[in-house]
Amino acid sequence: MSVVLVTGGSGLVGSAIRAYVEGPGAACASGETWVFLSSKDGDLKVRADCEAIFARHRPTHCIHLAAKVGGLFANMREKVEFYRENIMMNDNVMECCRLHGRDGKVAKLVSYLSTCIFPDKTSYPIDETMLHAGPPHPSNEGYAYAKRMVDTMNRAYTEEYGCNFTSIIPTNIYGPSDNFSIENGHVIPGLIHKCYIAKRDNTPFVIWGSGTPLRQFMYSSDLAELTVWVMREYHSPDPIIVSVDESAEVSIKDVALSVAKAMKFEGEVVFDSSKADGQFKKTAGNKKLRGLRPDFEFIGIEEGIQKAVDWFNANYETCRK
Ligand code: NAP
Ligand code: GDP
Repeated sequence: MSVVLVTGGSGLVGSAIRAYVEGPGAACASGETWVFLSSKDGDLKVRADCEAIFARHRPTHCIHLAAKVGGLFANMREKVEFYRENIMMNDNVMECCRLHGRDGKVAKLVSYLSTCIFPDKTSYPIDETMLHAGPPHPSNEGYAYAKRMVDTMNRAYTEEYGCNFTSIIPTNIYGPSDNFSIENGHVIPGLIHKCYIAKRDNTPFVIWGSGTPLRQFMYSSDLAELTVWVMREYHSPDPIIVSVDESAEVSIKDVALSVAKAMKFEGEVVFDSSKADGQFKKTAGNKKLRGLRPDFEFIGIEEGIQKAVDWFNANYETCRK
């Protein structure tokens, strides 16, 4: 019997994995029990809480999503908290996976990194071998170094204790149950929320920065499916970039215009260039993923934004914002 413990199970990615394994055409294999945690089940920064969770569920597998997560502007403001909270959660979860699994230790741990933690000055496309080859962009140093240590420790746990720990490196993610906070969230949920208000109040829709930076965006249900596949089929401590193709990279301006279209907003669109652009681009190559999943079809950005906008409109009163 397998017990899959998903930390951060109430967030953007966690709720997509839950929908994938429990929803129509459920991908939950027979003999598999899935447990989706939120911070209400315990604070993973606290070792005793983490140990109690592992003692209660005795997982065979763990997908570790829980993190202090935020967009560019939150990362610039709270570098200390992004570093410390993520370091604490990651250290507790990894050590509990070593010590407290169903058969002595957890058979497989999949943690999440991010393409925004790669070196700022680099050649493109970025690949998995470049993770530590230079400092990250100064805007998210705290988050980046905390996440990079997961990769270092995956190799260390594998070498020293024979653990099967690995990590996924996703690009920007969006979808239902995202954090739609304008101040703290990522660009797509922030733009969706701002466009909603602009339409409602008949005010301009303001895009922060120049709109020229480039990003690769992945709809959360695609990532959910690929994460479950990594848990079952990908066995190496070396990370795997899970991303749409390089050709799917888009500018922030194009994303904003797609949000306006999906929201049926016809008012004025304004760029506030007094706000930071962050890293210009972080183009990730997905050669390793494509070598293993050549036919996987990602949801296109226009379709994904329409789904995310529809979800936000339908859940405006109760969603995280
Ligand atoms: P999210 O929506 O912000 O969800 C965060 C989850 O972590 C929530 O379930 C939250 O629980 C839980 N959590 C936070 N602090 C906790 C604590 N101290 N103890 C226990 N649980 C805690 O995040 P997400 O966007 O799904 O991100 C999932 C993973 O993907 C993260 O590791 C993130 O770094 C990575 N990632 C995200 C993006 C992106 O664009 N979103 C891009 C690249 C990588 P509550 O709901 O109870 O607060
Ligand atoms: P990043 O991809 O890690 O840099 O993080 P974000 O998801 O926060 O995207 C930041 C990019 O989107 C920067 O170029 C910002 O200038 C731009 N941007 C435009 N409007 C917004 C907004 O409302 N919120 C956020 N977070 N970024 C915005």
